[in-house]
Amino acid sequence: MDLKYIGHSAFEIKTNNKTILVDPFVSVNPKYNWHDYEINDIFVTHAHADHLGAAIEISKEKNAPVTAVVELAQYFEKQGCRANGINFGAWLKYEWGNALFYPAFHTSSLPDGGYGGMAASIIFDIENVRIFHAGDTCLTGEMKTIKELYAPEIALLPIGGHYTMDVEHAAVAAKWLGAKTVIPMHYNTFPNIQADLEKFTRLVCSDNRNVAVLNPNEI
Ligand code: ZN
Repeated sequence: MDLKYIGHSAFEIKTNNKTILVDPFVSVNPKYNWHDYEINDIFVTHAHADHLGAAIEISKEKNAPVTAVVELAQYFEKQGCRANGINFGAWLKYEWGNALFYPAFHTSSLPDGGYGGMAASIIFDIENVRIFHAGDTCLTGEMKTIKELYAPEIALLPIGGHYTMDVEHAAVAAKWLGAKTVIPMHYNTFPNIQADLEKFTRLVCSDNRNVAVLNPNEI
């Protein structure tokens, strides 16, 4: 399993023979030329433009289904995409592993202003690794439940503040989730989500966890 940070909250996960995109706001990284890749599945945590990104374009070009909460999946279908409308709390089975949507504490409106369903976090179970993609969320006690039920090893956490957790709350989230490795996301993309990465690293590491800062330029 290979996890690549495209930028913002966008990740590419490569398994043995499949490629998955999460929150494909790929325009943040001109180096990521998705036209060259085979992409098999797309996941979108919520409808905001910086998460939806190029999901429609990519889904159509690659004939890759988009998995999202039903209201958002219906929007993708209306745009001519293949979509897999789901809801919270059940493991969804894929050829490459499993995924489970869990509520995030955040809003979600469609590009046309319509209701985008509830915002989600997603837990992936891929080649015996549990990855938690928080989507956009504030700190919530649900993270303790996620630890108890799903025990993610890797947590992808927003740290930019303003719209989501900031570095201090994200460090608490890392602890509550019990993740050994934390990958920061959703920071420094816009002026109002600048984050003190050094402080985040210090807070998380003082609690015996690792921070892996992935550089989108190394893609
Ligand atoms: Zn958002």
